[in-house]
Amino acid sequence: MNAEIIAVGSELLLGQIANTNGQYLSTELAGIGINIYRHTVVGDNEKRLLASLDEASERADIVIITGGLGPTQDDLTKEAVSHYTGKPLVYHQQTLENIEGFFNNRQKEMPVSNKKQAYYTEGADVFYNRVGLACGMAIEYKDTLFILLPGPPRELKHMYEHDVKTYILNRLEEDSLVLSRVLRFFGIGESRLEEQLLDLIQAQTNPTIAPLAMDGEVTVRMTAKAVDYKNAESLLDTLENHIQERVGSYFYGKETDSLPVQTVRLFRKTGKTLSVAESLTGGWFSKSLVDVSGASNIFEGSLTVYSEQAKSNVLGVEKNVIEKYGAVSKECAEQMAERVRLLYGTDIGISFTGVAGPDALEGKEPGTVWVGIAGPESVTAHLLNLTGNREHVRQLAVYYGCWFLLK
Ligand code: ATP
Ligand code: MG
Repeated sequence: MNAEIIAVGSELLLGQIANTNGQYLSTELAGIGINIYRHTVVGDNEKRLLASLDEASERADIVIITGGLGPTQDDLTKEAVSHYTGKPLVYHQQTLENIEGFFNNRQKEMPVSNKKQAYYTEGADVFYNRVGLACGMAIEYKDTLFILLPGPPRELKHMYEHDVKTYILNRLEEDSLVLSRVLRFFGIGESRLEEQLLDLIQAQTNPTIAPLAMDGEVTVRMTAKAVDYKNAESLLDTLENHIQERVGSYFYGKETDSLPVQTVRLFRKTGKTLSVAESLTGGWFSKSLVDVSGASNIFEGSLTVYSEQAKSNVLGVEKNVIEKYGAVSKECAEQMAERVRLLYGTDIGISFTGVAGPDALEGKEPGTVWVGIAGPESVTAHLLNLTGNREHVRQLAVYYGCWFLLK
């Protein structure tokens, strides 16, 4: 089963927004074993959209089209699909009521153009929009399934997760059910990881194994084909066991569970609290935790102490420690972690101090980073020698911070 994605919108062609819908759908579809062969971006132009539909349907089993379901003149995706399939547009009653309700609640008159958002092509299956107005739809035409989804990413994701994913899964033939699982590793390079799994990779048929390196971590996607879910799961379990035996010490999570997500999860599980003192990361570590919902249960607060004065005057690192060892030192990192832990009264305190670059500092090379971790009984600091530009060094420092807390 293969699919293509068509993103509709002149703003995409003009570079005003990035095609994140395409990226999202590709990731999701790969996750259920659907191969994506092509992405197309086309402007708000019916003729060119029709041509794209025609070309994509020649190649793909499923064509997903995003955007252009709105009320305005330039929103013409449903019109185009209707012309393409030769079926008339009709109103979806529940969607129409939803749109009317939306305007009634705001005591506004409904512009006639908004009725258009309740259109669907006769004969199509409709996806009701729970977070916006325009409904989505799926219609089969000449052996291709066309799926239309709204452009706003929040609406698209909601519709995909709630309805479209199951809709597609139900259509996959029973004996060709494909299931994949992503394992996430940190602290090991892609080639080292491949080396450890070489025989498994070389022998792969079903499930298949695909390692991918990005942003300092490596993921391994395993994809299994089977008659049903249970069988696919069991194939994946067996392979995962083999992989874990070899590189399990670098494993930290599955699917989309990032290092910060896993860190928050672990602290919630153990009921511990955390405070943070940041220098080179400038608040990045704290942000990455607060980005995770549920962080409030574990994260007390943080201090960004960038200058030497701030480290001593605000946080309370001893001046002579900085004079003697420098701000980028094991001693300073340990004191930062200890001090922030005491200030916030948390179980654990973590600190980051280092040289983000591009210039050396205190005679230490860019990429030299100390991560301090203080607990009730002891304090330690880990030295990192990172490579890459300023941004990358700081990003990696954040990831390593999570990693040390997890291990
Ligand atoms: P609306 O009812 O808001 O008009 P629509 O289904 O007609 O929705 P568009 O008008 O094409 O969709 O896009 C609405 C907004 O959604 C755009 O301004 C843009 O911010 C976002 N958007 C559209 N397509 C994409 C895409 N491929 N990737 C990311 N964002 C997108
Ligand atoms: Mg629109």
